[in-house]
Amino acid sequence: PPVSERHAFQAEIKQLLNLLAHSIYQGKEIALRELISNASDALNKMRLTALVEGSPLDPDELGITLTIDKEAGTLTIADNGVGMTHEELRSNLGTIAHSGSREFVRNLTRIPEEAKAINLIGQFGVGFYSAFMVADRVVVLSRSHRSEETWKWESDGTGEFTISPADESRPRGTSVILHLKPETKEFLEPWRVKSVVKRFSGFIPQPIRLDGEVLNDQKAIWLEPRNQVTEEEHTRFFRHLSHREGETPLFHLHVAVDSPIQFRAVLYCPPTNFESIGFGKLEHGVQLCARRVLVQSNCQEILPGYLRFLHGLVDSEDLPLNISRETLQDNAVLRKIQNTLVKHVLDRLSKLAEEAPQTYETFYEQFGIILKEGIHTDFLNRDRIAKLLRFISTANEGEEADRKRTSLEQYVGRMREGQTQIYFLGGPDLNSIRKNPHLAYFKSRQLEVLLLPDPIDEFVITSLDRFDGKPLVSIDSARVELPPQTESTSADAQGKEATTDQPAVDPARLDRVLSLFKAALEGKVSEVRTSQRLLESPVGLIHAEGSLTTSMRKLLQMANR
Ligand code: ADP
Ligand code: MG
Repeated sequence: PPVSERHAFQAEIKQLLNLLAHSIYQGKEIALRELISNASDALNKMRLTALVEGSPLDPDELGITLTIDKEAGTLTIADNGVGMTHEELRSNLGTIAHSGSREFVRNLTRIPEEAKAINLIGQFGVGFYSAFMVADRVVVLSRSHRSEETWKWESDGTGEFTISPADESRPRGTSVILHLKPETKEFLEPWRVKSVVKRFSGFIPQPIRLDGEVLNDQKAIWLEPRNQVTEEEHTRFFRHLSHREGETPLFHLHVAVDSPIQFRAVLYCPPTNFESIGFGKLEHGVQLCARRVLVQSNCQEILPGYLRFLHGLVDSEDLPLNISRETLQDNAVLRKIQNTLVKHVLDRLSKLAEEAPQTYETFYEQFGIILKEGIHTDFLNRDRIAKLLRFISTANEGEEADRKRTSLEQYVGRMREGQTQIYFLGGPDLNSIRKNPHLAYFKSRQLEVLLLPDPIDEFVITSLDRFDGKPLVSIDSARVELPPQTESTSADAQGKEATTDQPAVDPARLDRVLSLFKAALEGKVSEVRTSQRLLESPVGLIHAEGSLTTSMRKLLQMANR
C-alpha cells in the first residue's frame, strides 16, 4: 500500500517561499485570486478534454466552491476540474519547469521593488505559492479525472512537502485548504471573501460560490458591443488576464470581424516591459478561445513574436475545439485571424502615435525594442512597422534632443530640395556620434541626420534599406549622394560652406600629400582621396561601397566573440 512520501522543494521555490513568508507586501488578496485562477484553469481543461474526447459532461456542473470553517480556521477553494495524479501533485506543486519562471524567482529576491513584483507571481507560473502568504499550512486534496485515487499534498511552506493517500475518497477535482495565519483571519469573514472575489475574480468564466451564492458575473466583455464596455471594465479585464493587479493598460483594442473568418478580440498593452528589467523573454499573453471555450492560454500562434507583449483574448466561431499546439501551427483559420489582427494592432499604433503622441512615446520607450524585431521577421507589414519606428535626429536640438524622436515620415517631410537619401550615423553613444567628423558638414548644410546610439537601430535601418523609396545611407559611407548646392542652402550655411571657405590649394601639392598618406596606410585602407565634406577635422574615415558601417562591424565582432 502507498505510504506518505517526503519531498524537498526545488531551490527556487524555497527562495520564493522564504520571501513570501517574510513579505511585508499588503496585497494578500492575490493569493485568493491565484488559487481561484488555478481552479478555473482546471475547469477549462476539463471542459476541453470532455469536448475533444467526446465524453459526456454538462458544462453547467463545472464550478468553484469556497467554504469557510471558522472553528478550524480554514478557507477552502474547491473545484471539479481535471484534478491531479500523485505524479502531477509532485511535479506541479514542487518544481518550476519553465526556465523563464525560475529566472523570475531568482530576480524577485534581488528586486528592491519586491512588493510590486510579488503582485506578478501569477504571471510567471508560480501563483500557487502565494497561498503561503495567507496560510501557514496548506493542504491540497486532489483526484485526477484519469484516476480513482485521491491524494493529499501538504506543506507548512518551509523546505518540504508530503504526499500521502487521502483518508477519504472524493469526487473528481481539487480542494486547496488554507490554514490561515493569525493575521489573515479576515478571510474567515464571508463579506470580506465576497468583496475580494468580486473585485479580483469577476471575469472568471465559471461560477464561484460561497454559501450557495454566485459571486462573479462572468461577463464575456469581448462579445459585448464595443461601445457598451467601459474603460473601467477593460482595465479590470486586463488585470484579470495579465495577473497585474493595480496596473492600467497603455491602450486597448476591441475587434469584431465577421468575414471571411468570424472572430472577436480584445488586446491590451501593459504599461511596462518586463523583458527590459531582466525577466527574460516574455511568454505570449493571449488566450485563444473557440466558441467561448478556452483552448489555449499563452497562445503563441495568434500574434507574431514582435507583438508578444500584448495581453488579451481571441474568440472565434470558426475554430475547431480539438485543436492542439501542433495543429495550431498550420491552421489556416488561425493564420487568417493572425493576419487581420496584426493589421488592426499596427493601425491602432499609428493612430495612437497621431492622437496621443505622449502615450505613444511611452509605448515606444517600453516596447519599441520588441516591435523592431518585426522589421526582420514580417516582410508583409514591413512598411507599416517602419512608419512606427522613432529615432533621435539632428533636427532636434537642445536639452530635449536626446529624448525627442522623429519618425521616418517626418524626416522625409523635412528633406531638402534635391535630397534623395535618408542619412544616418551610428556609434557607441550619442556623445561620440555627435563628435563624428562627418557630422559637422551635414549640419552646416542643414541636412538632417538620424543618430543611432543603439546598434539594434543600425541593424534595423540597414535591413530596412529604404523608406518611401529613399535609400537609408550612413553618412560615413561612400554611397552618400548630396543634393546639389543652391544659392539658398549656401546662404543658410552662413558662409561656413567648405567649398566657399577653403583657400585654394595647389593640386600638385595635394597629390603629393595623398601619395604620402597612401604609402603610409598601405594595406590598411583601399583609397585615400580629398574631401569637400570635412569642416572641423583634417581627416575622416569613409566606408567603401557595400561594406559595413563601423558600428555594424563592431556589433558583428561582439556577436562572434
Ligand atoms: P500556473 O497556474 O501559472 O501554471 P501555478 O503555480 O498557479 O502556476 O500552478 C502550478 C500548476 O499546478 C498548474 O499549472 C497546474 O498544473 C497545477 N494546479 C494548481 N492548482 C490546480 C487545481 N486546482 N487543479 C488542477 N491543477 C492545479
Ligand atoms: Mg496559476
